[in-house]
Amino acid sequence: MRVVYVKAPFQFEIRETEIPEPGEGQVLLDVRACAVCGTDMHTAATDAEDFQSFGHEIAGVTVKNGPFASRFQPGTKVIIESGTFCHVCENCRNGRPDICTNGISVIDDLEISGYADYMVVPEQALVPFDGLEFEEAALSEPLGVAMDLFYTTGIELNDDVAVVGLGPIGLMTIALAKAAGARNIYAVQRSSRSQARIALAKKLGATDVIITSETKLTDYPFPRGGVNKIMITGAPAVIPETFKIALYGCIIGFLGIDMQHGDITFNANDFHFKKLQLRASYAVPALWFPRALELLKSKVVDPKDFITQTFPLEKIEEMFIKQRDHGEDVIKMAMVKK
Ligand SMILES: [Zn+2]
Ligand SMILES: [Zn+2]
Repeated sequence: MRVVYVKAPFQFEIRETEIPEPGEGQVLLDVRACAVCGTDMHTAATDAEDFQSFGHEIAGVTVKNGPFASRFQPGTKVIIESGTFCHVCENCRNGRPDICTNGISVIDDLEISGYADYMVVPEQALVPFDGLEFEEAALSEPLGVAMDLFYTTGIELNDDVAVVGLGPIGLMTIALAKAAGARNIYAVQRSSRSQARIALAKKLGATDVIITSETKLTDYPFPRGGVNKIMITGAPAVIPETFKIALYGCIIGFLGIDMQHGDITFNANDFHFKKLQLRASYAVPALWFPRALELLKSKVVDPKDFITQTFPLEKIEEMFIKQRDHGEDVIKMAMVKK
């Protein structure tokens, strides 16, 4: 079987290896699709000597059960939860699996590769599906992330919402806010470089797209003078600016990492007097996969809007370079094995 290794920044090596044997509680999976995540682009940019997890938005078919794995017949179509909860700790038992820190993180603990022909995965991380193409089902993983941000921010009927950052997650939250009955949705993006993303934001239900390099956020004529909810996918540095368009009682959901610049400053008195709430969204453990599958199937989030390019495994280097250099044409790419 083939596995892709990152040899040097944007130089990959496809190595031939033995098909792995599933261990206790594990299942051997025939990988059929792996969608490309922003974190894969970071991994691709590293000088990885050793193997690291690469590709985690995965759909495939079960091939063989290891000892004590029996939930799925060989031949079942499944997606992989990128992180699970443990079922037995205090938080899980108190009904809060969302704050369990004892589950297996498939990405961090197991060194998986979705850019491979086969892989072994813990049975407990598998969710069966039907009625979707493999690359479409693989979108459940990023959609689960978008749902976490959506739920964390508490979008309600008739809210005016700002969505900051128009990557795939931000775009998905626009579709979710629309479905939840938001009144106006303002898509906020720094530049107008990616016309594909701007067009999709509008198609998904954005009332307007605000390009902040052209229009200052505070100059925009919001009908209520600001917004009720803000969902941010982006670097922490953007957070304080968004407070300026936050209405009294606004909830700001935030999802993003910047390894170099994690500190922000804001006036806590204003924060207090405006009764704001800043909430972190972090989809670990990964939840909502069955619901994400349903939302994709019913086209509340239409997978066809999101998968803009597919490629076979052997084209991975070319396609990653394309996304790096011409990312403006890409909403989401996926490796698909025919
Ligand atoms: Zn991802
Ligand atoms: Zn737990």
